[in-house]
Amino acid sequence: MTKIFIDPGHGGRDPGAVANGVQEKDIALSVALAIKKFLEENFDNIEVKLSREDDRFLSLSERARLANAWGADYFVSIHCNAGGGTGFETFIHDSRSTKSVAYQNVVHPEILTTMGVRDRGKKAANFAVLRLTNMPAILTENLFIDNPSDAKLLKDPVFLQQVARGHVEGIAKAFGLKRKSGAASRPAASKPSKQTQPKRTVSGDQVVRVIQEFINTYGFNIAVDGIAGPQTMRGLVKVLQTELNKQFGRGLVIDGIFGPRTRAALVNVRAGARGNLTRVLQALLYIKGYDVGPFDGIFGGKTETAVRSFQRANRLTVDGIVGPQTWGHMFG
Ligand SMILES: [Zn+2]
Repeated sequence: MTKIFIDPGHGGRDPGAVANGVQEKDIALSVALAIKKFLEENFDNIEVKLSREDDRFLSLSERARLANAWGADYFVSIHCNAGGGTGFETFIHDSRSTKSVAYQNVVHPEILTTMGVRDRGKKAANFAVLRLTNMPAILTENLFIDNPSDAKLLKDPVFLQQVARGHVEGIAKAFGLKRKSGAASRPAASKPSKQTQPKRTVSGDQVVRVIQEFINTYGFNIAVDGIAGPQTMRGLVKVLQTELNKQFGRGLVIDGIFGPRTRAALVNVRAGARGNLTRVLQALLYIKGYDVGPFDGIFGGKTETAVRSFQRANRLTVDGIVGPQTWGHMFG
């Protein structure tokens, strides 16, 4: 049995960093609760305990004491940064115990890949929770509350699931956790080359899991197995149809079939767009092997670059605009 202790930073009278309408204590708690849920749902022989499961104050030494008394195998403290900057970084105690270093080397890149944000590096510091815990420990700093574009991501529940999913996959890899039967295993790490055909269709992938969880927020109950197969593609068509109905009054039947009616109802999506149609687009690009950065529903520079690469690879007009032709090739 592997015992993972998750410590959502701050709480109660201590909100942590506060800016842009976001409080660090709230982000830390929702990420921690999602990590617990994903770990318990997906893996065998695991116990997960949180230092707090609601909005309450706990001293730093109390957090460490709880983990020590429980006999945790790993201590993971969840925070957000502030003070100017952007991106993701992790800390271990500056004594740099062998195990903490080894786990950081596995967990840090997994979270980073899943989040798709800037890497600020693997660091060490004399933080109290890292010093006072008896087991290997890590503290993650997930974006900057006081950076407006980071804060936008942190306000997005789908992105927070992505953050949690990254932690889960990192912990699973570090401890060699066994996935519950029926759940797919992670693929061997391989960077997709730029202009490629589907790379993510054969085995489990954590961003695909995020995509599947996003599809299920619409009430479609597809398996969250990390495999971008027909079920996931049908789910994305259903989300597309739902959004076309909701935003443009198309009156489509939500059947998950990318047929002539759905084709005729499509709209152009281009730079500057935001929302769940863009999110569907980012999901498709990711599944096809393109780097789109965070799954944030914002059609920014990275998404446009990916669209252009996709158009070039498929010999379409390279204009960075997703019209019926490009949509068609993405679902094809
Ligand atoms: Zn903090």
